[in-house]
Amino acid sequence: MKNAVHSVLALGGNLGDPKANIELAAKKIADLKKVKVRGLSPLVESYAVTASGIDETKPNYINAVIKVDTKLKPKKLLKKLRKVEADLGRVRLERWGSRTMDIDIITYGEENITKKTLTVPHPRAYQRAFVLVPWHLLDADAVLPGHGKVSDLVKPIEQDVWLVK
Ligand code: ADP
Ligand code: MG
Repeated sequence: MKNAVHSVLALGGNLGDPKANIELAAKKIADLKKVKVRGLSPLVESYAVTASGIDETKPNYINAVIKVDTKLKPKKLLKKLRKVEADLGRVRLERWGSRTMDIDIITYGEENITKKTLTVPHPRAYQRAFVLVPWHLLDADAVLPGHGKVSDLVKPIEQDVWLVK
């Protein structure tokens, strides 16, 4: 794909069959027009976290990262990803709520986007092991614009997630 932008997407969920849902979401993303999937990371697992900390009464999360090349503009990409979330049965209830599938845009080329509906690079990605660890496994040289090498960012938090067998 000529003139495509490289983008990193983070996927995760803790309801239903999260592993199957990630694979399904990856397939649906691969089927999007103007999107070419360049890689799917290993899957990682972590405890659910809410505003008050780890909540072991909730199902664990499964997360992964997908690298894509896309000719979709950022907002169009977000719209398509929200459709994939909806297809997988996501219902938006509360900010910290359990969900079948959440798809976030972590990076979109080198762009800095600060729109009401879209902030890129994702403002919390730098502190999320469930984003950084799979991203690092997929791409050892990855850099999060504004925060530096993913290999450095993962070090203090990598124990927060573990590989799904
Ligand atoms: P969260 O991802 O924070 O758990 P949601 O998936 O419900 O919650 O997203 C809330 C809003 O975040 C969405 O309506 C979307 O417009 C906005 N948003 C802002 N930046 C991004 C981004 N980089 N990727 C995905 N959604 C984003
Ligand atoms: Mg989201």
